[in-house]
Amino acid sequence: MPKKPTKTRKPKQTAIVRFLGRPAKPAAKLKRREASFRLLFDSNPIPMIVCAARDERVLAVNDAAIQHYGYSRSEFEKLTIRSLQAFDPELPWTGDSGDERAARTWKHVRADGALIDLAIYSRQLVYGDQPAILLALMDITERKRAEAQMTFMAQHDGLTGLPNRNLLRQKMDDILLRTRRSAEQVAVLVLGLDHFKAVNDTLGHGIGDKLLRGVAKRLRSILREGDALARLNSDEFVIVQSGATRPEDAAFLARRLLDVIADPYLLDGHSVVIGASIGIAMSPGDGDESEKLLKNADLALSRAKNDSRGTFSFFEAGMDARAQARRKIETELREAVQSDVLRPYYQPLVDLSSGRITGFEALVRWPHPERGMISPAEFIPVAEETGLINAVGGLMLRRACMDAVQWPDDIRVAVNLSPLQFRVGNLLCLVMDALNQSGLSAKRLELEITETLLLEKSSEVLATLHALRALGVRISMDDFGTGYSSLSYLRSFPFDKIKIDQSFVRDLAANPDAQAIVRSIISLGKGLGVTITAEGVETEAEVNCLRNEGCQEGQGFLFSRARPNAEIMSLLKAQRGYGAALVA
Ligand code: C2E
Ligand code: MG
Ligand code: MG
Repeated sequence: MPKKPTKTRKPKQTAIVRFLGRPAKPAAKLKRREASFRLLFDSNPIPMIVCAARDERVLAVNDAAIQHYGYSRSEFEKLTIRSLQAFDPELPWTGDSGDERAARTWKHVRADGALIDLAIYSRQLVYGDQPAILLALMDITERKRAEAQMTFMAQHDGLTGLPNRNLLRQKMDDILLRTRRSAEQVAVLVLGLDHFKAVNDTLGHGIGDKLLRGVAKRLRSILREGDALARLNSDEFVIVQSGATRPEDAAFLARRLLDVIADPYLLDGHSVVIGASIGIAMSPGDGDESEKLLKNADLALSRAKNDSRGTFSFFEAGMDARAQARRKIETELREAVQSDVLRPYYQPLVDLSSGRITGFEALVRWPHPERGMISPAEFIPVAEETGLINAVGGLMLRRACMDAVQWPDDIRVAVNLSPLQFRVGNLLCLVMDALNQSGLSAKRLELEITETLLLEKSSEVLATLHALRALGVRISMDDFGTGYSSLSYLRSFPFDKIKIDQSFVRDLAANPDAQAIVRSIISLGKGLGVTITAEGVETEAEVNCLRNEGCQEGQGFLFSRARPNAEIMSLLKAQRGYGAALVA
């Protein structure tokens, strides 16, 4: 017998909740479900709100929501979900066309006015016979803040707060895209601080950091809204000037930037002065994408730094080729140092009254397999830029001492030192080792330094110079007269010798001005009890003039070019006078 179908009762819709689309449940079961929902809802630690689907009115809130938002239950029930929001969401949130469980992030206002970020999970349900939405609200304010902080840190420089290279590139791309459609050009200015390392070395990193912040602040203060500013690396900043119509606009800005940086900074009681150099590349002529413009502006900066610091330079075609040639020199020089092919050549220093050789200056020579002898004027700057100068300088010092110890006892050897060799901090040991290993007496060694070393007037440099002198080593000032304040440097250290730069010796016989300068330097030397040597003596007329003025020593092609050590002994034996006898 077929089974009689049992009569199903239509479930009564009571106050709470039935998920839409679910089959109806018997009343007792429903009651139980409602009770557990209540329990789950009321005591849930996550803030929850039920609101009407139709008008977003708040129908119910749990205790956690009341606590979190700071509204009372009755205040809540007068609100709509939309009125909790800090701003109107652009997207409808109740449509629920997508995945209901996916979180949306909203910004709500709490009763005390504070803004909070929320991840909201929603679910449709029936609440008291009406379609409603259950919202679970997860507070993600802290997470968002941490994320924002992380994003900021990834895009900004921690010290100055300026955008870093990453953000700069994004900003540049935006500016370039915007200006591509107009006739405007974009100028990219890479600004490098001059001798920033000296500030760090002499005044400490704390003051160095403050100086960088000060520079950033001044740069920011003169830029316009559409311009971009970033810190590229330790002492380089980039300014992207939009709206430039001619290179003159960029030059004008560059001049202002140099001026604004040059004023002294008062940092922890120190008055610090720093200069800067600027390289400029203009879009679209020098490149139409950010990386290329930055690279070209950087090349122009190298030119500005090499020419004379404190100026600006525009990028020019050909700079790239020169930079590549420089990189090639660097690689080959590294190999040359490793395979020990650099050699000192020796140029005599001649006593002008007796005509006898008093010593030799060691001048580094690089025999290159393809290019022949490469001039130190070409590779010493590269060695200084790359730090290879320490190896080159150490090598020259050791070899010069080893060679000189074979010469007669009254013949000295002079070795050139780069300012960078003082920064490493082991110069004194290096000199002592070279003397000990060779057995050369300290009084036969002269060290030539240039005025740039004393630019910083750091106490460490002066202490090293005094310690070297205490060993018995003589200290000469090379290229005298070419620096900024040669005279003041003479006061900072008791030099044994001053070498007049060859630019003053040139045309000495025919040039009364040059004669007046040389005369003053010679009388200065006499007053200070310092030997004066004239560099670059090429003619009999020059040597006569120098001798008449009372100059003690000369060096130059008239006497001899620099020669390999193998020729020195025969040169010494052959010397008869300072004239033609010594000419190479
Ligand atoms: P410097 O120390 O002033 O050396 C004198 C330079 O003048 C040498 O050039 C020398 O060859 C050149 N010279 C000498 N007499 C005459 C002359 O009558 N007429 C002309 N026109 N030039 C003359 P060099 O050898 O090319 O060296 C150039 C510079 O490179 C040196 O100038 C020095 O600053 C640097 N240098 C050379 N060797 C070393 C080294 O071992 N270490 C360091 N740090 N620098 C070095
Ligand atoms: Mg020299
Ligand atoms: Mg010189």
